[in-house]
Amino acid sequence: MTDFSLLAQLNNAHGPSGREEEVRKVVCEALSSVADEISFDGLGSVIARLNRHATGPKVAVVAHMDEVGFLIREIRPDGLLKVFKLGGIDPAVAVNSELEIKTRHGKKYTGLVWSNKPVTELTIDDLWVDVGATCQQEVIEMGIEIGDSAVFATRHFDLNNSGNLVAKALDDRIGCWLGLELMRTLADKNLPCDFYFVASVQEEVGTKGGKTAIEQLRPDVVLVLDVATAKHVSPSSGSQRVYGQGPCVVVADKIALGHYPLLNFVSDVAKEQGIPIQRDFLAGGGTDNGPATLVGSGIAGLAVTLPVRNCHSAYTQVNQQDVTQCLCLLQHVITQLDETQKARLYPYYS
Ligand SMILES: [Zn+2]
Repeated sequence: MTDFSLLAQLNNAHGPSGREEEVRKVVCEALSSVADEISFDGLGSVIARLNRHATGPKVAVVAHMDEVGFLIREIRPDGLLKVFKLGGIDPAVAVNSELEIKTRHGKKYTGLVWSNKPVTELTIDDLWVDVGATCQQEVIEMGIEIGDSAVFATRHFDLNNSGNLVAKALDDRIGCWLGLELMRTLADKNLPCDFYFVASVQEEVGTKGGKTAIEQLRPDVVLVLDVATAKHVSPSSGSQRVYGQGPCVVVADKIALGHYPLLNFVSDVAKEQGIPIQRDFLAGGGTDNGPATLVGSGIAGLAVTLPVRNCHSAYTQVNQQDVTQCLCLLQHVITQLDETQKARLYPYYS
């Protein structure tokens, strides 16, 4: 039985883009007993090395720490707040939700999102956040100021103990959990590569930390872990990225192509191990794999994603079996990434 208590801690941490400190603390604490070196990029991404004496190609698994959320943009005379959104949040999804507001000094408040407009006409400007204050002065006395952050307030839970895990921040704390599990489970292995876990910042506002951390690290191979909205099996939607049918490898997204030799290598490992994978296309978005791939003279990169339900909402849901299969796949991929395999990924250099 897999222990998901660390995932619950990660999921419950308050960490929208640029305000990842609570997540970084959980990540660094979990790494403290396994990583040989921990460093940071200038924006606050964590770069953890498994074994400082390791040889072989530099392999980085990347997952972003930030979640979608809001910044307080205006405190109105009537005590209601207006917000600026961090990442792709549909106002129709945000309305009627409960938020957790965090002040500069770490105090937390509940905010309820409401609007007078019909859901079909909503923009982010039509949302008001109610903290129970009747005037601007009351909000200021609570210690809330313009620029404070807010996230959905949901706590991590298992849906009727079905193995379907639900939280506000599975995008991408599930990737962070996988990265930490890889560090922990591979710590006593004799790896053929120099393995790193990168927990990046500000992915939801334009894949920022994925660029800066990879610039600093300059690995040979990048595996980006993220999530994407699952589809249902139907004649119109096709059969890719189906919830509960295994992790996905991204052939192409809006900003990057999966490195073809790497895509094939990961697919071959999955086949050898009997792990089901889905070859996917993300037409509407990208991941940290975009900027990571274009660092230096170019790096072999691939996004490995998990199908989720209700992405960028208060209740994002992931299937536990998809998660454990993804972990197993990554463990096998990393333990096979040696110099010979690296040469196969870059055939044009030989
Ligand atoms: Zn994500």
